[in-house]
Amino acid sequence: MFDLPAQRAHLSEKYDLTPSPELAASMSDIYDRMSRVVSPVDWAIYAPYVKAINDLKVQRNAVILGHNYMTPEIYHGISDFGGDSLQLAIKATEVEADVIVQCGVHFMAETSKILSPDKTVLMPDMEAGCSLAESITAEGIEEMRRRYPGAPVVSYVNTTAEVKAASDICCTSSNAAQIVAAQDSHTVIMTPDQYLAQNVARDVPQKNVVWWEGSCIVHEQYSPQDLRDFREWNPGTRLIAHPECPPDVVAEADFSGSTSGIIKYVTDEKPEKALLITECSMASNIADSLPEVEFVGPCNMCPYMKKITLEKVLFALDTMTGQVEVDAEVADKARLSVQRMIDLSRQLGI
Ligand code: SF4
Repeated sequence: MFDLPAQRAHLSEKYDLTPSPELAASMSDIYDRMSRVVSPVDWAIYAPYVKAINDLKVQRNAVILGHNYMTPEIYHGISDFGGDSLQLAIKATEVEADVIVQCGVHFMAETSKILSPDKTVLMPDMEAGCSLAESITAEGIEEMRRRYPGAPVVSYVNTTAEVKAASDICCTSSNAAQIVAAQDSHTVIMTPDQYLAQNVARDVPQKNVVWWEGSCIVHEQYSPQDLRDFREWNPGTRLIAHPECPPDVVAEADFSGSTSGIIKYVTDEKPEKALLITECSMASNIADSLPEVEFVGPCNMCPYMKKITLEKVLFALDTMTGQVEVDAEVADKARLSVQRMIDLSRQLGI
């Protein structure tokens, strides 16, 4: 369990973390990236942590990977790279760094370790899990293989290393339909997200897509009625849904896409008002780069992602605790599933 008081006592002995408007003002270049969504008062609280982490990053030769669902002070304040889990893990293989700090959830840190086995990967809170990743184990994959003999298993990257290792190939929400369509078999098993699988089944009718019944606790909360009500109360708002939402929700939206697909859509289209039907921080993290777009609520927060805080990142980097290890044999097999996806995506030109 996390010992927050002990962690705080340790940090306060080594760092001056008192809120500082002066320090905050001296770091206005960083603040400018989040000024629409973070108040000056909050920035004065965050600034000492951001400075301490950024200094320590240099000493440790570390890079920080910030998922799109991180809060803005993490995403814009300390992250060297921002993006979805796979973009981040691939980016980490391309940089000369000894340490990777994963600001995201545990399966993402595992993916980074699988792709960068020689780097130290730190997870600021080991309890940052994921309802999707936890919904299936390698035994679940074997059960699906028994139910559908000969069918290939396509697993979403939101899975543990063990599940990736037991699968034939991985997919992301942006390439899932093409990866499924490219399989030789008529029946294709998709795990663990039932809604992503159902959305793919609609887009790839030539395949018999069967799925595991996992779901994301953030995206499954939306209902089609929520979208209809919102459209009625806020005419002119563009509704943009992530494909981890149920298909009837996606059907009510004006556009559906992965996190990178959503960012591209809003950046290209610049709607006057947009509602992102996904995790709350997505809109916050792109608000300052798109001042012409008004992002409107409601949104749902991922409790796992929100376990990562500046304080925990500083502690992990200071003490080098929270190191993520993946069994070498499991990592080799899991890497193969990820690599097959990367190779197939390149071959398909996506
Ligand atoms: S948003 Fe959903 S898929 Fe992403 S980490 Fe949270 S629970 Fe998992």
